[in-house]
Amino acid sequence: MPAYRHIFFDLDHTLWDFHKNSEETLHELYHSFNLTNLGAKSAIAFIDSYKEINHRLWNDYHNGIITKEELRNRRFRDTFTDCGINGEQIADTFGNEYLHISPTKPHLFPNAVQALEYLDAKYTMSIITNGFAEVQLVKLKHARIEHFFTHIFISEIIGYQKPDVRIFEHATKTLEVKPSQTIMVGDNFATDIVGAIRAGIDHIYFNPEHIPHNLSVQKEITDLNELILLL
Ligand SMILES: [Mg+2]
Repeated sequence: MPAYRHIFFDLDHTLWDFHKNSEETLHELYHSFNLTNLGAKSAIAFIDSYKEINHRLWNDYHNGIITKEELRNRRFRDTFTDCGINGEQIADTFGNEYLHISPTKPHLFPNAVQALEYLDAKYTMSIITNGFAEVQLVKLKHARIEHFFTHIFISEIIGYQKPDVRIFEHATKTLEVKPSQTIMVGDNFATDIVGAIRAGIDHIYFNPEHIPHNLSVQKEITDLNELILLL
């Protein structure tokens, strides 16, 4: 691989184990809100329903069909309705608690810290994330990895979302590096990888669940410790 100077990391599902942190929070809240007593079947059924509804609403948000507020208001209201629990107000309280607690969960993917420590000695690094500012910064702080990154590029602040080439251009300009001197590590082909390709940035596709695909990628890893061999 060429001599890189800077590594871009995606955050959710690449370093920060979104599923694990989210499910742990949902489990805790399900029990603290006594949702079984309010009519829900089980925590597992509730979480499955939430995942499906949340996924659909995130797609709508990314496609500009709904706003951030609609996404946040609807995901738990719709889940509560789907699970036979009455009460919009309790769904809103639940949603607020979820937003508050979930980003404080510290679970990272295996070997994330080891890989970052290794890379930190050789490169500068930053995050490019499509998340919301107040949430993403809390995640980095509680997972104790914020010190690895010189910059946190957040779509909500910059005004463009991956795969828009302008968020990558903003990042390389800010860092005063050429795209060819950087490489992007991310789990989402449509945003991280397509965006990097458009911006002339090399990429490493992170596929921790070994999901089969026919995508054309430069490098693919299933464990973050592979970065130590590649970079
Ligand atoms: Mg991701």
